[in-house]
Amino acid sequence: MRESALVLFSGGQDSTTCAAWALQRFNRVDTVGFAYGQENANELLQRDTIFNALRRDFREWPGKLGSDRIVRLDLFGQLVKSSLLGDEGLPPRTDGLPVSFVPGRNVVFLTVAAIMAKEGGHDALVAGMCETDYEGYPDCRDDTIKSLQASLNLGLQARTSIETPLMYLDKGDTWKLAEQIGGKRLVNLIVNQSCTCYGGELTSMQPWGMGCGKCAACERRAKGWAKYTFKAEPTLEGEAS
Ligand code: ZN
Repeated sequence: MRESALVLFSGGQDSTTCAAWALQRFNRVDTVGFAYGQENANELLQRDTIFNALRRDFREWPGKLGSDRIVRLDLFGQLVKSSLLGDEGLPPRTDGLPVSFVPGRNVVFLTVAAIMAKEGGHDALVAGMCETDYEGYPDCRDDTIKSLQASLNLGLQARTSIETPLMYLDKGDTWKLAEQIGGKRLVNLIVNQSCTCYGGELTSMQPWGMGCGKCAACERRAKGWAKYTFKAEPTLEGEAS
């Protein structure tokens, strides 16, 4: 059992799974969330509900969940345009990346978290970056994370590892991992309380949880749920059946 971890926690499916993964492996788990002007800031509203449930319903991790903090990062809105920041009608990016890409987002997140870990004495950062089931974001790739870990440790004179337990999983595997860690209780908590939707839709409930059911994030979550529950993948609109 390692001593302490700082989990990058947004309140979505991935970061809730990462928090549980960390609770299984570390004696103390602190969390940090980032308010960076995201359109889906609603997911941050679910954080307290999820923390309360993790404390109340998971007695196997007693007293491990420590402090939580939200750090404001207003710089992105000043520097970049992205559909994730609520910018509409954007032309395709010239680098071929999706208009939802927020350049440098995870680089800045991990840099801020590494500073916090240095000051808080954490052994590890735990984050939900994943390169298999995403939209080609370069800051979700394992190479990026590995090289960041080296640079941050050099620059901060630290030995903090960056753990990314979801790196090579697809969304179906992520549901399965949640079940392995915390059983159906954890799966139900994630379904009922976590929000991954790019639009931050908290009012309409789908079989796989809250979300608009139309955005790329909802589509990924729905496909993963279908795979996890062994149903056929949902037919996409316009696709020949
Ligand atoms: Zn959605």
